[in-house]
Amino acid sequence: MRGDELVAGIARRLDVDAGQVVIGGGSISLLQQTLVAYTGPGTEVIYAWRSYEAYPIIVGVAGAASVAVPLTDECAHDLEGMLTAITPRTRAIIVCNPNNPTGTEIAQDELVAFLDRVPSGILVLLDEAYWEFRTDNLDGVEIARRYPNVVVFRTFSKAYGLAGLRVGYLVTSSSIAENVRATCLPFGVNAIAEAAASAAWADPEHTARIVSAVTNGREHLESALVELGVPVKASGANFVWAPVGRHARALEAECVAHGVSVRAFDDEGVRITVGEREAENAVITAFGSYLHTTTLDEQQAHHKTVSRGEGTVT
Ligand code: PMP
Repeated sequence: MRGDELVAGIARRLDVDAGQVVIGGGSISLLQQTLVAYTGPGTEVIYAWRSYEAYPIIVGVAGAASVAVPLTDECAHDLEGMLTAITPRTRAIIVCNPNNPTGTEIAQDELVAFLDRVPSGILVLLDEAYWEFRTDNLDGVEIARRYPNVVVFRTFSKAYGLAGLRVGYLVTSSSIAENVRATCLPFGVNAIAEAAASAAWADPEHTARIVSAVTNGREHLESALVELGVPVKASGANFVWAPVGRHARALEAECVAHGVSVRAFDDEGVRITVGEREAENAVITAFGSYLHTTTLDEQQAHHKTVSRGEGTVT
């Protein structure tokens, strides 16, 4: 009913108790379930912005208010700013590492110093959807062993290529896991998805090959774009972030004209997901042809003030 076989396999490899692992229909489902279990009307949830676009939605579904703390000029989490945003109403802080869509990573010592200052009654939801592609050695599961208020979310959607089957997992202290498990629908992960995730989990060499192909493609994209003068950020994910400000839409259109789809965020930048080499080269050609006629005179424009929501679904 609760995916015992997959839970046991995950727990064994990560060397945690099966009671500390919960699986669900994608990590987004588990993130929402955790927010529903622990937050609600009258409470606040802090996250960085720009980050994963589902955060404002799931915080709204839980009935809590969003507190969005702008990224730094380096497109990274402003952990100091997030600590400052804590109020007596704060119940949870979401930390996306590596961050979607900027790919930036938090150093282990910075995260530990941050966690030491977060009151233990506030949950820290560490979203590691892109963990397998990281460039540093930060391991949320190791962190969660030391900080019982940390909940780590990972997924079979990215490095395992099973996004359409919808399987994610979380690792945390047994008591938090039990509360989130109470919000799971029986048989929430279907038998086909569980079998696929178990098979993928049992084949780490295969996953390593995928991760290596993606990180090679990422390096290829990063170095070619840097050579063109695009201010890309070093990425620990399966995409590259180009903070091109007001050029985002035009660059997206140029990529589409070259037969590839990228994701533009208005006036902020373009996220380029690593694909096949042919697609990467099409992106590079598209950027090259755009830069032939236009100079990138502006970097990422982001909102500089903390925004506090109303706690409604948006
Ligand atoms: N977290 C982040 C940061 C993501 O980018 C995504 C997918 N875009 C998810 C969670 C959700 O992934 P899934 O529900 O497929 O596990």
